[in-house]
Amino acid sequence: MSSASARSAVGIRAEKLTKRYGGTVAVDDLSFTAEPGVITGFLGPNGAGKSTTMRMLFGLTTPTSGTITIGGRDIADLDDPARTIGALLDARAVHPHRAAFHHLLAFSQAAGLDRRRVHEVLELVGLSGAADRRAGEFSLGMNQRLGIATALLGDPGVLVLDEPLNGLDPEGIRWIRTLMRDLAREGRTILFSSHLMSEMELTADNLIVVGQGRLIAEASLDEFVRANTTQAVTVRAQSPARLARALGAAGVTFTTQPDASFLVTGADSGTVGRIAAAEGVALDELGRVRESLEDVFLRLTHDVTEYEGLPA
Ligand code: ADP
Repeated sequence: MSSASARSAVGIRAEKLTKRYGGTVAVDDLSFTAEPGVITGFLGPNGAGKSTTMRMLFGLTTPTSGTITIGGRDIADLDDPARTIGALLDARAVHPHRAAFHHLLAFSQAAGLDRRRVHEVLELVGLSGAADRRAGEFSLGMNQRLGIATALLGDPGVLVLDEPLNGLDPEGIRWIRTLMRDLAREGRTILFSSHLMSEMELTADNLIVVGQGRLIAEASLDEFVRANTTQAVTVRAQSPARLARALGAAGVTFTTQPDASFLVTGADSGTVGRIAAAEGVALDELGRVRESLEDVFLRLTHDVTEYEGLPA
């Protein structure tokens, strides 16, 4: 599926985007870019403003201020929106009594697309065998596939998927991941949201991290990991009290863990080993630990996680 539209793919740009609902600021002065040819992960806890941002991109919600554009243009100003941008915003938003084929046909007709394309996208998402089944009988995974088929109908250069991995089994997750990778490789812009760091870690090239509507980080996945993970050392001594004194005297910061081992930050394992040896403290364990990306994400978004904040 290599197409002219993909080759002329354009990026998505949010510029000082803000949305208020009464006293709630859903999206707060948010600026970011999603570039063609890469998978951009839009990451944040529930309530961070991801869906609202995507809805503003599609003109389904009006920004209070700021803009979100496709190749510099508002969606309303696109010459051919169906061939430019595709969306999966809510996989359950299908008529339950309508067969998958007819669901796609209705969309393709509304967008002035060839009927043959319906068969192509059904094939692409692995639903050819279920084309005549009613969408109401589909599992969540099949609905996600149907939603992605709908998004791909116009063979668009830009794809926006809201929580596409939600509720999928490992096979379904692997399938969407591979599809997104292939689509990005063709030069398309892929923006997908998730509240799960573990999913992002395996799929995204670039990250836009948000919390309470605000930008927390915009970086490549590698940069994000490098900038935000801290190296730590775990050490367990036969005499924890003596090791604690030795580390304290050397000005090394540590915390005691439930198994009486220490988690040391700001010193490498060699340094910790030498401090222990100089004091004649025997060690049962000494090793490096790296904070998981999940931990980093939770720490970064902790202060801005809606349900942990003060009552509004
Ligand atoms: P996410 O997709 O990251 O989970 P949302 O964009 O759905 O976050 O929500 C962001 C915030 O905006 C939440 O506090 C949510 O309750 C609020 N919100 C979203 N839509 C509406 C709406 N139509 N009316 C009022 N508040 C809303």
